[in-house]
Amino acid sequence: MREVNVSEISETIARLSQEANYFLPEDVLAALQSGRQAEESATGQAILDEILENQQIARTEQAPICQDTGLAVVFIDIGQDVHLVGGDLREAVNEGVRKGYTEGYLRKSVVFPPVRGKNTNDNTPAILHLNIVPGDKIHIVVAPKGGGSENMSALKMMVPADGLDGVRRFVLETVSKGGSNPCPPVIVGVGIGGNFEHVAYLAKKALLRPVGQYNALPEIADLEKELLGKINQLGIGPMGLGGKVTALWCAVEVAPRHIASFPVAVNIQCHAARHKEAVI
Ligand code: SF4
Repeated sequence: MREVNVSEISETIARLSQEANYFLPEDVLAALQSGRQAEESATGQAILDEILENQQIARTEQAPICQDTGLAVVFIDIGQDVHLVGGDLREAVNEGVRKGYTEGYLRKSVVFPPVRGKNTNDNTPAILHLNIVPGDKIHIVVAPKGGGSENMSALKMMVPADGLDGVRRFVLETVSKGGSNPCPPVIVGVGIGGNFEHVAYLAKKALLRPVGQYNALPEIADLEKELLGKINQLGIGPMGLGGKVTALWCAVEVAPRHIASFPVAVNIQCHAARHKEAVI
């Protein structure tokens, strides 16, 4: 059994909260650069140039990529041979977010209660997804999620008869409805299967998969390619002003489902596709 003090988790989350907001992941950056090459609309090209310049300024000056520094979504895989000491894990996670957002002067975007709420003033609580895995390591991902793209996400409880055609229709309809609101070019995370709450988690997890890495299941990889092609034929383009680069990537995660249900979730991620990870 390996002992880990939860203060180490707080420190790591504080650092990742800031790094995620300052440094766009390399795979997303490469996708934006390829998108710039592929885009034919002059307006779209100009917008992509600005997005690329903006992320470079953020990287150099260690300033947020976007004013919406997001709700902190934290994924932790804890090895079952880890013994956590020094306090409560959930509080340690929130302490990390509090420290990262406060010391990094990142915008505090959380209100509570949700109806007529007041700002909690430290961007807590985080949304925490915990998973117990084999081993003695702790894998942490911090993914600040902006409100504009989250608002354009959707979930549908389809029936099995809707099948893959239903999935295609729902994904395209959701991206189409989003239009310029999620600050395209977007990354589209799709969950298929599981149940009501699990399918939303799958769609969120899909957003963490590196751009360019297809699903290991060949038929799902084919669906990812097909969906990305069709999304980019919608003509929404960079920031919704028209063009062929509406999405940089589409990732689909799947899980077993009930014979009577066919849940599908679409989680839209804006071009500021921020996430950073660390292993303790
Ligand atoms: S959707 Fe993304 S890029 Fe647009 S304002 Fe929100 S965080 Fe910023």
